[in-house]
Amino acid sequence: MNILRKIRFQEYADTQSIIGLIRRLNPEREVKILNVCGSHEHTICRWGLRSLLPKNIRLIPGPGCPVCVTPQELIVNAIELSRRKDVLVVTYGDMLRVPTSRGTLRDAGGNVAFVTSSHQVLDVCIRNPDKKVVFLSIGFETTAAPVAALFEMGLPDNLYFISAHRLTTAAMRALLDTGLDAFIAPGHVSAVVGSDAWREFPERHKVSVVVAGFTPEDILVSVAYILYCLREGTARLENVYRGVVRAEGNTKAKKLMDKVFDVADAPWREIGILPASGLELKSLFCKRDARLNLPWEKVEEAEAEGCICSEILLGKALPSQCSLFGRVCTPDSPVGPCMVSQEGACNIWLRFGSW
Ligand code: SF4
Repeated sequence: MNILRKIRFQEYADTQSIIGLIRRLNPEREVKILNVCGSHEHTICRWGLRSLLPKNIRLIPGPGCPVCVTPQELIVNAIELSRRKDVLVVTYGDMLRVPTSRGTLRDAGGNVAFVTSSHQVLDVCIRNPDKKVVFLSIGFETTAAPVAALFEMGLPDNLYFISAHRLTTAAMRALLDTGLDAFIAPGHVSAVVGSDAWREFPERHKVSVVVAGFTPEDILVSVAYILYCLREGTARLENVYRGVVRAEGNTKAKKLMDKVFDVADAPWREIGILPASGLELKSLFCKRDARLNLPWEKVEEAEAEGCICSEILLGKALPSQCSLFGRVCTPDSPVGPCMVSQEGACNIWLRFGSW
């Protein structure tokens, strides 16, 4: 219990003492920990955390990159809409470079603009009153909440949405059959949904979850906590990001999302349809839905030849196992979605190495 208290209150403040604890708790069998969030993978690679861990303790990147999981159908339709004279497509910068079977938004030659936050879309609408502004709105709960807030503020008449928001809890459920021992849950998402959102994993699925921040120490403490749970033969939920994440999350943000979005089964690029995993605009806001008010076509999803993003996003393969990694597929010339964004596992591994 003393160890648990020390981990919980981060009394192992320096890296060396946490590593020492990890070694003492090492069960000497393969331990597979899935870090869902791209920002966690960034911390792991940037600081070389894998090289500090015993070889049998494996940190596996997961599907926590919104750019990577946005279905091609949404991007292809955004490309086609951008070619209409009366439409301006707006999205986040990385989305402009995501490859699809019909090229990228950047190279489509259409009317496209990028924003760095959803609120900037309002300015774009005001500056382009003669256009239907279509916001390809991607991301997990962290970006869905500010989009929901736009509806409270009042929307310009010329604003439409393609909602590509996805829910991380659903993705984590889909990963349960990969033989993992525990999750490190995304810290930013947890700030919105609350650490209690992950309670089903230890209680129903017997898999521990640690909500972590983004310092190397946060990740290492999470690993130590997971090893402690394995040693005790228990599955637990712990939050080591207490300065930011509360058990109940951001209740105001959650209420706003409930007012604007319905949860629905939704496709994830390279993964397929996951139950109750997407946020669609409520029927009350149907006149804002680009899919219902502008030309829309069904598009078949097709992975680029040789690309193994589907396996990487499901924690079944690592970027370095792709034959195109770093040779044909690079951040300047991405073949698959995992190489585009700084949150994508292939992009991170190529920039920092996997150590
Ligand atoms: S290296 Fe490129 S082609 Fe290979 S899995 Fe990653 S994104 Fe796909």
